[in-house]
Amino acid sequence: MPRKKSFLLNNSVKTFLLFTLGFFPLSANLPSSLFFSNIEFRIAGNGESDHHYVWIHGDEKTAEMALNYHMKHYPGKAFFIKSEEREVFVSGVMVDPNRIFSRKGAASALRKFKTDWETSALTASLDRLDEDREKFLEKLLPKNGGLLIAVHNNFRGYNVSKEIPNSRLQSIKPQQNPRDFIICTDQSDYSKLASGPFNVILQDEMADDEDGSLSWAALRKGVRYINIETRLGWLSQQKKMLKFVEERLRKSGLNQESATDVSGGAGLDPQ
Ligand SMILES: [Zn+2]
Repeated sequence: MPRKKSFLLNNSVKTFLLFTLGFFPLSANLPSSLFFSNIEFRIAGNGESDHHYVWIHGDEKTAEMALNYHMKHYPGKAFFIKSEEREVFVSGVMVDPNRIFSRKGAASALRKFKTDWETSALTASLDRLDEDREKFLEKLLPKNGGLLIAVHNNFRGYNVSKEIPNSRLQSIKPQQNPRDFIICTDQSDYSKLASGPFNVILQDEMADDEDGSLSWAALRKGVRYINIETRLGWLSQQKKMLKFVEERLRKSGLNQESATDVSGGAGLDPQ
């Protein structure tokens, strides 16, 4: 059937063009999801890169949109939580998924909404989470000195000043909103980012009050980690920050010049 043939041909030409232009959303070899306990993450990616990305709070939609956009333009592997809510069910109780990346954090997360645990049941749940966490981190964390970038949004109240007591170096820009900032765990990354237009802090020492969030797990395992925090609704700001981090920290040999184009100024957000 000539008509069908040309339809198929058109489609393969389209696929080829999308792939060549780097706009292909899913690599054929990637599994489609990854689990931490019963929490599912969708995996998206294009091309080869040692940059991994994670979106972990289901209610932070601006961060999800920014990361979806970013993955259409840059290589890397991204993990999107499959949840519409901030909290998810683990061992039958609601927990913040970004508070279970250490046994200590998981213990307080599991107790938060269920105070009457029997000791043996709590221990069994924590043992299971310890095992699941290791398997999950094995896939989530990049190898060979790669970088893990988490995207978050904040609501009223939380800003960079809350993180300063746990940080060793800070580069705060008076023209930037304190609710938009970058946390990194590697001093060399910090140096490259601090000279840019955005607020940047370095947290490269384990805190005594470590809360079980992913940043501390990455630090413990010696993996370079970046957290990009932006006000909820400020999509173009978060896209700019992602672009800035990607271009500043991309391995040398690739074009770094466009990183200086990032103004970091006020955009048209929020939408
Ligand atoms: Zn978050």
